[in-house]
Amino acid sequence: MSDPAPEPTSVPAAGGRRAAPAPAHLRFFHGPMDCGKSTLALQVDHNQSRQGRSGLRLTQGDRSTAPQISSRVGLSRTAVEVDAGTDLLLLVRSHWAEGRRVDYLIVDEAQFLTPAQVDQLAELVDASHVDVYAFGLTTDFRTRLFPGTQRLLEVADDVQRIQVEVLCWCGAPGLLNARVVDGAMVRSGATVVVADTAPTPAPGAADGPDTGAEVHYQVLCRHHYVLGELGPTATGPGQLALP
Ligand SMILES: [Zn+2]
Repeated sequence: MSDPAPEPTSVPAAGGRRAAPAPAHLRFFHGPMDCGKSTLALQVDHNQSRQGRSGLRLTQGDRSTAPQISSRVGLSRTAVEVDAGTDLLLLVRSHWAEGRRVDYLIVDEAQFLTPAQVDQLAELVDASHVDVYAFGLTTDFRTRLFPGTQRLLEVADDVQRIQVEVLCWCGAPGLLNARVVDGAMVRSGATVVVADTAPTPAPGAADGPDTGAEVHYQVLCRHHYVLGELGPTATGPGQLALP
């Protein structure tokens, strides 16, 4: 290059270095249901707090009276319930206004964030140096990215597919979430907000024609998702056909 100007140094002067704290990051961990993301969320929270850092745990779709992040291995911690209308910048600033430190955020069920909320998380990272650890499902039961997941994949500093293995009934790695209504797999309907912590009945009227039906989710490999086979004992080949 012919530019004679000296290369700008990437290392700020000492004064500037003090003014600019260590950069924070927006990290996103995703996978299918049952992949252990809530367990990982609580582990990250534990590791951060052990370093003397102060964090805020957020979750969505927890319909209990005392919101928490809970995992199948028995861990749980209280959390702040947010919804699509929550301004995450205001939420964190309100904690600061009360004199409470927020060094990092643990965001579970991050697939349910709106794209605007993901951008708020990015602003907290960049402007306020809050580390954000977001955990969420990759795709819905139609194999499409959740809106929050899509935005996180677009803007996160670091994206990791959670490697804890969840298996399809056939033994192959589980990849996709199937919605099962009254024992049969369905591929259309609303992207319903359902926590991934237990087989869950349909959450009210949000599910349209499925309301009142028994709804749960099952992780399948891609092959069996495409075939719509829920296992040798469920609806599908191998089952005794009854009139
Ligand atoms: Zn399979």
